[in-house]
Amino acid sequence: MPEEAIERAVQVMRSGRLHRYNVVDGEQSETVALENEYARYMGVKYCLSCASGGYAMHVALKSAGLQAGEPVLTNGFTLSPVPGAIDNAGGKPVLVEVTDQLVIDIEDLERKIKSSGSTMLLLSHMRGHLCDMDALMAVLDAHKVRLIEDCAHTMGASWNGRKSGSYGLAACFSMQTYKHINSGEGGLVTTDDAELMARAIIHSGSYMLYERHEAAPGPEVFKTIRLETPNYSGRMDNLRAAILRPQLAVLDEQCARWNERYRAVEDALRGVNGLTVPARPSKETFVGSSIQFLAESLDVSAVPDFVERCRARGIELKWFGAGEPAGYTSRHDSWRYVDAQSLPQTDSVLSKLCDMRIPLTFSVEDCQQIGEIIRDVFEHFDD
Ligand SMILES: *Cc1c(COP(=O)(O)O)cnc(C)c1O
Repeated sequence: MPEEAIERAVQVMRSGRLHRYNVVDGEQSETVALENEYARYMGVKYCLSCASGGYAMHVALKSAGLQAGEPVLTNGFTLSPVPGAIDNAGGKPVLVEVTDQLVIDIEDLERKIKSSGSTMLLLSHMRGHLCDMDALMAVLDAHKVRLIEDCAHTMGASWNGRKSGSYGLAACFSMQTYKHINSGEGGLVTTDDAELMARAIIHSGSYMLYERHEAAPGPEVFKTIRLETPNYSGRMDNLRAAILRPQLAVLDEQCARWNERYRAVEDALRGVNGLTVPARPSKETFVGSSIQFLAESLDVSAVPDFVERCRARGIELKWFGAGEPAGYTSRHDSWRYVDAQSLPQTDSVLSKLCDMRIPLTFSVEDCQQIGEIIRDVFEHFDD
């Protein structure tokens, strides 16, 4: 947390004006300033800050016009707030396979667009891996499917020079502590669609104070929307906005620091027999805030033992293949409110998938050492 963020937080607390619409004459709230700055960062017209990433997805889906019972496509490998947001918005998740590169399988997507008749994809750029966005958009355009992007792991990333989150109708971001900027909890919705943003602002709990938003369409767009749109109360407050703004100012520098650390772990793991790290396409500018690899040559039953041996050497890996959901991770078959779906390819990938977060508190040397330890444990597993 930058010192500047702490100082601004104290100023907001001294003012007592924590609610985003509580401003004195001529004052711009921290929340409004954050929205303006993030819209500029993303190169989009509109931005809304809100309570969480999950809330951002819920409101984006509703504001895009999702109707009760409508099928919504999403990748079968993601975190539970994603199917949860679809459910909360009244949709029915249709799960799409992922490839061994951990991105959505575009062929399976096309099959499922046809079989489900869905016109909405909530794509989670899970663990920061971007699919071929040009190929994806071609398929979505051909079938008139709208895209909402879950950029919880791609804030700061881009594909072919274009920011992740600028491909879809709208994009959603999370500022929960484990993401790229941190206010404990928080979410952002960005879009160039005036009506979508007007609905999102009213949904978020603006009452009739929507004219205090700046990264927003003009009052004429709200004329009927303000009366037709339910208030789901999930606003951002000035305290959190105040601590996010100084972090946004250094986001790109932080992303570069993550990537230095990612490359240090990756260098140690590349070329290890039986262990594969997903390739990073040249068009992808990613943010390496976590790293994944497939323990291909291990028997699935041996993976927990491998993870345990890494843990004994001080390294905490997550395994996405575990039958029982644990910590933050769960597999699609644990989401029992979703109709059970068969995803053999995803299941096979997840059964060997290990994952590690890369906090910026680790030095590059720490990351080299971590990579070497993982390699050592893996190469001597059968000894
Ligand atoms: C964290 C996360 C979200 C949003 O989570 P919140 O905790 O609601 O902010 C959405 N998608 C993915 C993939 C995430 O990891």
